[in-house]
Amino acid sequence: MLKGKTALVTGSTSGIGLGIARALAQQGANVVLNGFGDVEGPRAEVQAAGQAHGAKVAYHGADMSRVADIEDMVDYSVRNFGQVDILVNNAGIQHVAPIQEFAPERWDAVIAINLSSAFHATRLVLPAMQAADNGRGWGRIINVASVHGLVGSAQKSAYVAAKHGLIGLTKVCALENATTGITCNAICPGWVLTPLVQKQVDAKAADQGISIEEATKQLLSEKEPSLQFTTPEELGALAVFFCSPAGANVRGVAWNMDGGWAAQ
Ligand code: NAD
Repeated sequence: MLKGKTALVTGSTSGIGLGIARALAQQGANVVLNGFGDVEGPRAEVQAAGQAHGAKVAYHGADMSRVADIEDMVDYSVRNFGQVDILVNNAGIQHVAPIQEFAPERWDAVIAINLSSAFHATRLVLPAMQAADNGRGWGRIINVASVHGLVGSAQKSAYVAAKHGLIGLTKVCALENATTGITCNAICPGWVLTPLVQKQVDAKAADQGISIEEATKQLLSEKEPSLQFTTPEELGALAVFFCSPAGANVRGVAWNMDGGWAAQ
């Protein structure tokens, strides 16, 4: 379905971004990966996912807190594949502390990586998306927000502010392109067991002197009525839907996959 398209997925060396990159490659899209840590493992996984379609995989190590890096990453994607048709703004970090103890530099980092980076990548890919398809425009912008874009939780001021902001950005981008073939939507996961969440489970276990298993159970039962983690595969399938012809008039939504978290 996505053969010949190119997807740039930020923060895709791990967790949700990697799941979405795999799902898009399975549909035939070329993928530009981004993120820190091991690159060869994720590259091989995405390559294998897209093998049947001959989808190509590239990587750029932009630090999403740096505007010049983001510009360089978009230029690199265009040089490699012609243009970016699908942008998935996924890179994100978490920091947990009450507001009065929240280090200002952690606030700045969370806002830069979880919110401002999406603005910069979006403004850089939009002109080519708007010119695509003989000037009618085609593109998909998918912002990985969070259930924390819809509701708050104590100790997560920067994250909750960034994710609410990201949903606002999603709506404006959807409206500004509403008469074109470019859609912009947000995905709002509840708990997904990735390294970002494992750190919170480990901290809970250490703080309370309980096992990892008990801490995991507590984490889910506090917020997520299904008592189940959402998986990167499920989130990848939602991203594929947004990219499909059936998703062409889905515009500006913030779509939860949160086990009922925000329904409470
Ligand atoms: P993760 O820690 O597994 O992956 C984060 C990715 O972002 C990694 O590839 C990492 O290298 C990359 N990254 C971090 N800082 C970066 C930077 N400065 N520049 C470039 N890349 C950077 O986390 P995850 O759980 O997969 O989270 C992915 C997204 O999903 C985040 O935006 C997060 O807020 C959101 N989210 C996660 C959950 C969850 O429960 N895990 C829930 C809701 C939303």
